[in-house]
Amino acid sequence: MLAFFGMGPTELVIIAGIGLLMVVVVVSVVMAANKSSVAGPPHDSSQLTTCSACGRSISRAAAACPQCGHPNPPQPPIRG
Ligand SMILES: [Zn+2]
Repeated sequence: MLAFFGMGPTELVIIAGIGLLMVVVVVSVVMAANKSSVAGPPHDSSQLTTCSACGRSISRAAAACPQCGHPNPPQPPIRG
């Protein structure tokens, strides 16, 4: 069992470590890219979202846009 593909447990641990490290690096880069791409208005936008129909800033809790009545689907909570 230890001679799986001719590799011993030490090689498997090293490969697993490299794989895990790459996953961490990729996730970090993706998260950093997502953060830098978010360009919201300077005021507090944590409770606001943009109406997909008319572009008005509306409350995330609003069931529909107060301006045009476009339905506002429930927004997932922001993870900080
Ligand atoms: Zn609207």
